[in-house]
Amino acid sequence: MKPDHPAHSAPDDAAMRRAIAPVICYPVEGLPAPDLAPFLAARATWEMLSETRVPAREARCFDVPAGCFFRISSIEGPQVGDLNLWNANNLGERFFSGKARALHGTHLSAGDRMWSNLPYLRSMALITEDTLDWYGFDGFGGSVHDVIGTRCDPYTHNLLSHGGQYHHCCHSNLTRALSDRTGLSLHEAEVHVHDVLNVFMCTGFTRETGQYFMKASPVRPGDFIEFFADMDLIGALSACPGGDCSSVHSSDQAVCHPLLVEVFRPQSPPEGWRASPANGYDRTHGR
Ligand SMILES: [Zn+2]
Repeated sequence: MKPDHPAHSAPDDAAMRRAIAPVICYPVEGLPAPDLAPFLAARATWEMLSETRVPAREARCFDVPAGCFFRISSIEGPQVGDLNLWNANNLGERFFSGKARALHGTHLSAGDRMWSNLPYLRSMALITEDTLDWYGFDGFGGSVHDVIGTRCDPYTHNLLSHGGQYHHCCHSNLTRALSDRTGLSLHEAEVHVHDVLNVFMCTGFTRETGQYFMKASPVRPGDFIEFFADMDLIGALSACPGGDCSSVHSSDQAVCHPLLVEVFRPQSPPEGWRASPANGYDRTHGR
């Protein structure tokens, strides 16, 4: 955090320097918004492939073939979910929340993409519908579906609680789920768990101190966020021990609810869609 009393005095032209207008790091002109209409139309013929109920304070994996949709729904009460995605054929390729944030901003919605990590950097999935898009940004700067948090984890909890051991943080839930899905040991699976899309979570940064905050999620049963898979995916979703994240997490104190993941296959892929191509960078790195 920035100090209340800086150790260094400001230069004479500090006000002028602070008044310089910001420049968007990644102008969106280079990343045109996808036409969602063919994707929404393809849903008319879809049939359900699978349905996965994620119990409170647990995580479950689910498989999504390329060209299929998956939908995460609130079913019994307000609940936040932590989402991981992997290339089903290569666990080394996984969701890159930091680049999603740099490209799309702090909170995602329909039309944004789930990008994969380097050296892959390509679309893993497209967000096709978000029933919480009405929320926008509130007066605190908060919004829904962030890529600014990481995932609640027992290591941070241990540090902050001076030795506490809690085993149902999203990090551990995702680790157990991936271990169950792949047969990897817990420690082998754990290194594949990565920073998440915080589904339904309402978060932001405080204006004064820039600290990550959370507040009660506006999600209601029936709300959903839906994705279209650009490659064969393994997904994992944790029903966060924070529940609606209105008060605490990393404990069994919050009221928690299950979440639902449904996978659908359209009869034919959306018009014009093709599986995610490899990134075009030649990887010679100047040598
Ligand atoms: Zn969590």
